[in-house]
Amino acid sequence: MIGEVVTIDGPAGSGKSTVARRLAARLGWAFLDTGAMYRGLTAWALDRGIAPADSPDQVAAIAERLTISFDWTDDPPRLRINERDMMDRLRAPDVAASVSDVASIASVRRILVGLQRAIASDRPRLVSEGRDQGSVVFPDALVKFFLDAAPEVRAARRAAELRAAGQQFDDAQILDQILRRDERDRNRSDGPLICPADAVVVETGGLTLDQVTARLEEETRKRLGSSLTGDALRADS
Ligand code: C5P
Repeated sequence: MIGEVVTIDGPAGSGKSTVARRLAARLGWAFLDTGAMYRGLTAWALDRGIAPADSPDQVAAIAERLTISFDWTDDPPRLRINERDMMDRLRAPDVAASVSDVASIASVRRILVGLQRAIASDRPRLVSEGRDQGSVVFPDALVKFFLDAAPEVRAARRAAELRAAGQQFDDAQILDQILRRDERDRNRSDGPLICPADAVVVETGGLTLDQVTARLEEETRKRLGSSLTGDALRADS
C-alpha cells in the first residue's frame, strides 16, 4: 500500500531536486528523484550505441530487462542499473540532450511509473519529484506542489550547478536546451508536464531555495495535521 507522498513537479531548473531533497531531510522522509531514473536509462542506452530518438523499440526492450534501483543508504540515494552505479553519467550533456526522447516512450513510462509506485509502497513517507508525480503517479498524494520560474532564471540555476561541477558549457546553449526539453516534456501524450488542478503553485524566481523549502515544509506540516509533531514525523523514517 502506498503511504504518505508529497509530490513536487515542475520544468527543468525550477529547483525541484534541491528543494525535494531538503524537504525530505527536514521531514525525515525518503527522497525520490524520478528524473534520475529516466536519465539513467538514457545513459545506459547511449553507452550501448543506441540513439533513443531513432530506436524507441530498442530502448523499450532494454527497459524491460534492466534492474533499476536506488541505494537508499546514501543521500541522495544513488541510482543503479543492474547493480552498476550510474551517478557519474546522469548530468552529462549527451544524456540531457536525449532524455526527453526516452521519456516520451509510452512503455518506458509504464515501467518507471510502476517502479515509482513500488518504491512508495516500500517507503511509506516519500517526497517524490519529477514531471508527472502529482498528475499521474500519485494522484492521491497528501500534497502536490508545482514549482515554476522564468526560463532565464532556470537556465542560470542550471549553469551554476554545472559550474560547481566543473563542467564546460555555453550559456545560450543551456537556455536553448531547457526550452527544448520543456517543450517536449509539455507536449508528449503520456505523462506530460502539467500543473495538477489541486497543486500548490510556487513561483521560485524571487526566492532562495531555502525559502521555497520552508514554504513547502509549512504547507506539508499543515496538511499532516496538528496531531503529528515533528518528532512523530521522524519516528518512522
Ligand atoms: O528532473 P530532470 O531534469 O532530472 O528530468 C530529466 C528528464 O526526465 C525530463 O526532462 C523529462 O523528460 C524526464 N522526466 C519525466 N518524468 C519524470 C521525471 C523526469 O518525463 N517524472
